[in-house]
Amino acid sequence: MDILSERKAFVKRKRADSGLALDCEKASLPGAVSQRACVFCGARVVLNPITDALHLIHGPIGCASYTWDIRGSLSSESEIYRHSFSTDMREKDVIFGGEKKLEKALEELINKFQPRAVFVFSTCIVGIIGDDLEAVCKAAERKFGLPVIPVQSSGFEGTKSSGYRAAGDAIFRLICKGQAFRSEKEEKIPFSVNMLGDFNLAAELWIVKDYLKRIGIKVIATMTGDGKVKDIQDAPCARLNILQCAGSMGYLARRLKEELDIPFMKISFFGELDTINSLRAIAGFFEDRRIRENTERLIREESSRYSSRIEKYKKGIEGKRIAIYVGGAFKAKSLIKSFRALDAEVVFVGTQTGNRDDYEEISAMTNPGTIIADDTNPVELAKCLGEQKADLLVGGVKERYLAYKLGIGFCDHNHERKYPLAGFVGDLEFTREIYTSIQSPVWKILKREKDAGTLRYC
Ligand code: SF4
Repeated sequence: MDILSERKAFVKRKRADSGLALDCEKASLPGAVSQRACVFCGARVVLNPITDALHLIHGPIGCASYTWDIRGSLSSESEIYRHSFSTDMREKDVIFGGEKKLEKALEELINKFQPRAVFVFSTCIVGIIGDDLEAVCKAAERKFGLPVIPVQSSGFEGTKSSGYRAAGDAIFRLICKGQAFRSEKEEKIPFSVNMLGDFNLAAELWIVKDYLKRIGIKVIATMTGDGKVKDIQDAPCARLNILQCAGSMGYLARRLKEELDIPFMKISFFGELDTINSLRAIAGFFEDRRIRENTERLIREESSRYSSRIEKYKKGIEGKRIAIYVGGAFKAKSLIKSFRALDAEVVFVGTQTGNRDDYEEISAMTNPGTIIADDTNPVELAKCLGEQKADLLVGGVKERYLAYKLGIGFCDHNHERKYPLAGFVGDLEFTREIYTSIQSPVWKILKREKDAGTLRYC
């Protein structure tokens, strides 16, 4: 395939007779229009769903355009997180420093909104001029008596994954500022977990929380979908961390294990198979007969509730050729399994932040001939979709119109979706959405017009 020579090591076709050895975990190629966001955005997506915290972006107003409206996440209580606050740095602040402006913004916002904590995000220009976020936050913390945490997410160094790490450090600091940290050993709550790496974009987290409640497991803190400061500070009381999006929250899970002795388990609630496996793995951790029995009952009830409707949609999906381009590798792996269960063929898989192990695993799960790519760009993606004759692309908002322009189906598995795709009910929603998009009559009309040379906009 004709792509930029510097990108060739990042895009490979799986062969039956050799390993994949895909290049990854590198800075994006300049000029290649990566779909990745910046370091600050990486931190922002992870922290913003903490609902009763105030999120202040120290930087020019443009950075603050990445708001709740772009990446919605649902809350059961506070709505403070839905505001987007910025210090709106101007030329004068860049020349003389923005610390005074930040101090004033903190004072005004804390007095007005009374949040439970504040996160102050650093942006590119703040990293350059060297405003002392630590000092300003420390002073505000003393003055107002609540956690004010700097998020070291200025750009230029690292990728979106560095932002995940900065967010993980900020959450860890928030936990350490809580009471639970000081007496964590005595306060462990039996049969309890923290949920990491679900952002409750379309109520998925509530679906999983309900499953766990039904099998007898208490959720202490959710990080960060529908997250609450007090619950997050109680996180050390949990016996286990269950980790869904390992790309964004794996770093925090490892820190919590190493420094606070909370073990973690990777799970995924996307697709029926992964949902069942995850529930059984969590139940197995607690080694309790009652929990195991409850789990098996829940699996029986939920599977039988949706299976016939899934079968109905499956007939329109069988044999279709599927492309997947998502942020985190955990989702790509779950999607491969879901499409296998639907007898569709996955012909392209890419992620923004996968690592070497992820790609080897993806390679082992796919058929020879599948193209696997790291940090792809729209031109490359369009070429892959054409070459692989994909019928549908699963991706995020940035890929939606590319698919439509190419005249193929699309499923949003990212920020903008309105229907939950997690758990048993989510598997039905997912299957229905894939069916509806693939079987839409519009693709036939487009093809007919294209073949007749009467198509004006493609
Ligand atoms: S200026 Fe820097 S921090 Fe702000 S949005 Fe652009 S890359 Fe991100």
